[in-house]
Amino acid sequence: MPRLLLATGNKAKLAEYRLLLHGLPYEMVGLGDVGINDIVEETGATLEENAAFKARAYAQRSGLLSLADDSGLEVDVLGGEPGPLSRRYAGEGATDPERVTYLLRKLDGVPWDKRTARFQCVIALAYPDDRLELAVGEARGYIAFEPSGKGGFGYDPVFFYPPLRRTFAELSPEEKNRVSHRGRAATQARATLERLAWQP
Ligand code: IMP
Repeated sequence: MPRLLLATGNKAKLAEYRLLLHGLPYEMVGLGDVGINDIVEETGATLEENAAFKARAYAQRSGLLSLADDSGLEVDVLGGEPGPLSRRYAGEGATDPERVTYLLRKLDGVPWDKRTARFQCVIALAYPDDRLELAVGEARGYIAFEPSGKGGFGYDPVFFYPPLRRTFAELSPEEKNRVSHRGRAATQARATLERLAWQP
């Protein structure tokens, strides 16, 4: 079976990808499995640039087909913030709850109908020879007034998803994967990976 490097240092994302790509004809390996311990920094201005840059860098280092993603939350009333800066929004080294608190403070006094937001995800698949395939997904919702739920990670406890009337943190991993930005992008990436498995 060909090997696929799931090139993310984020353990919660890695768990989501193992579930999302389950059953594909690849042996899934993580960065630790191939002895890569340092993380490629994101320097681009867009999610696409970051995902492509990371996937290419890890493919070159590992010699393997590599999957990297970049994702972020865009809040309309904040002009699309935090966007590609989602992870560093409350400062380098901040925790998920600190990021959530920081975001809620920025939205203090903003009424429900103005709290629209979307999660975006770009997945890049790169071969060491530089071939690249991209897949994108988004999920639209509202930023809740307070956190709710214990599942997921990041901004999930305040991302209210109207079709299911719950926050992403109140969904099971399977429920989140069916509707999330990452789940939607992964559905496209699955189709690409199925094709590549037969014509590497
Ligand atoms: P990166 O893609 O690792 O740069 O991280 C993007 C940041 O966006 C994460 O650290 C989270 O703060 C946020 N984010 C991305 N995807 C999700 C998600 O599925 N749920 C909650 N927060 C997310």
